[in-house]
Amino acid sequence: MIRLMTYGGTAAEDAAVTRTGGVPLVPEGFTWPRCSACGGALQFLAQVRMDDLGGPDGRGLLAVFMCDNDRGNCAAWAPRSGGNRALLLPAEGASPAQVPPSGRTRLGEVCAVRYADVDAADYYDASTRWAKARDRPLGDVLGRLGGEPSWLQGDETPTCARCGRRTAFVAQWEEGHDHRTAAYFGGGGCGYGFACEPCREALFLWQA
Ligand SMILES: [Zn+2]
Ligand SMILES: [Zn+2]
Repeated sequence: MIRLMTYGGTAAEDAAVTRTGGVPLVPEGFTWPRCSACGGALQFLAQVRMDDLGGPDGRGLLAVFMCDNDRGNCAAWAPRSGGNRALLLPAEGASPAQVPPSGRTRLGEVCAVRYADVDAADYYDASTRWAKARDRPLGDVLGRLGGEPSWLQGDETPTCARCGRRTAFVAQWEEGHDHRTAAYFGGGGCGYGFACEPCREALFLWQA
């Protein structure tokens, strides 16, 4: 069974749900991450309620940021490059972050994620089946939650810098359902989010 993330219409920019775009929900004292290559404020891409993966409650929020100030550069595809940032944040007491006044900090649209469980051999099969069965464009598949990543290139699952173990896959994202408001993962690529929950470590990368 593959759990797809599909386009569920628009959402409030500060909704406490799994979504792409909008404003991240963060703890008090949060500092918006900046790109270590160009120095600009990173763009907020997506938020995942970790509880959506099942298991115990209170797992927090995965927030993903990437530099879009110099699109295609700043090594924004690589984990730990400083051109992107994934953060595992507590959900309790979180409030909308203060958005920096300059830089390409936000996507052009807030998209709610609606889950669809599809019995299929792989992610591509699941996506095409879902689109066909619902008479929806394939672009309305926003990605997948949990399970295994569907790599476009080789397996690049990062290891946790603290404990050295392979991080757990959280979600995979397509660039978006509308090219005007989409993220840039090399043009038709996918973003991948991982976490080591015991160490509160999170990582992001993209492939095209
Ligand atoms: Zn940058
Ligand atoms: Zn770890």
